[in-house]
Amino acid sequence: TSVPRIQLNDGHSIPQLGFGVFKVDPNETVRIVSDALEIGYRHIDTARIYGNEAGVGAALAESGIPREELFITTKLWNDDQGTQSVLDAFDASLERLGLEYLDLYLIHWPTPANDRYVETWKTFEQLRESGRVRSIGVSNFLVPHLERLLAETDVVPAVDQIELHPAHQQPATTAFAEEHGIAIEAWGPLGQGKYPLFELPEVADAAAAHGKSPAQIVIRWHLQRGHIVFPKSNRRERMAENFDVFDFELSASEVEAITALEREGRVSSHPDEVN
Ligand code: NAD
Repeated sequence: TSVPRIQLNDGHSIPQLGFGVFKVDPNETVRIVSDALEIGYRHIDTARIYGNEAGVGAALAESGIPREELFITTKLWNDDQGTQSVLDAFDASLERLGLEYLDLYLIHWPTPANDRYVETWKTFEQLRESGRVRSIGVSNFLVPHLERLLAETDVVPAVDQIELHPAHQQPATTAFAEEHGIAIEAWGPLGQGKYPLFELPEVADAAAAHGKSPAQIVIRWHLQRGHIVFPKSNRRERMAENFDVFDFELSASEVEAITALEREGRVSSHPDEVN
């Protein structure tokens, strides 16, 4: 399978489909990430706060896959925002991952109450200059946070990774991102299993029509909407299912019907409330 790549605003590109490891137990991470790599995933999305960077790194090393075929993202946790703390946190993440360079580093949450994301972003700009991270981006940034970064710093984020699934599509943030060349990464692409997405007729009917599973329909909807996605599963058969989405296409009306499911149905925290 060849996974399409999305062109980023800094000249690099990212595989549009990857594997996320939020809530993957550190003790099981080597096995789970090794399964994902065997299935064909080459893009892994982790974070310091997930506590499993070392397991991701061990699986990457064991796989023997050439570094240039991999795309690895990790994220700076909130209490590391600042200047020196960012440099130290970056070094520590890279070391745990066992990598010489990172593909994408993200500010995990804006934490506006701490008022450090502008300073943090300036440090990210330095890290990018150093060549030890190829692309830099943000996560959970809404329009006001993005506007402030664009006004006060030099580099436009390559991506914004936000909660995005059919019930919560964040039209304001995605429109702003598109206007400024910021790629959208959809986290919780399956709604984290927190609402009965798979039973909705818009999803279930398309699944029956294409002989695919509801999860495959939702992943396909993301891909056709242009989002970067990295659904998570601990189970090998589901990892394989989630990767097997390149042999069919949703019709324009099927995409439209799923897009019409928007209802501001956030399943996780509001970015202004995370500290
Ligand atoms: P998700 O929407 O990918 O849902 C994962 C859950 O969906 C699984 O635990 C499983 O219960 C179910 N599932 C997966 N595949 C399935 C299938 N084929 N059939 C039926 N059920 C299936 O949620 P997520 O893991 O929270 O999001 C994906 C990734 O996004 C994370 O692993 C992480 O990398 C990233 N993320 C980032 C943030 C952030 O703040 N930046 C927050 C949450 C998640």
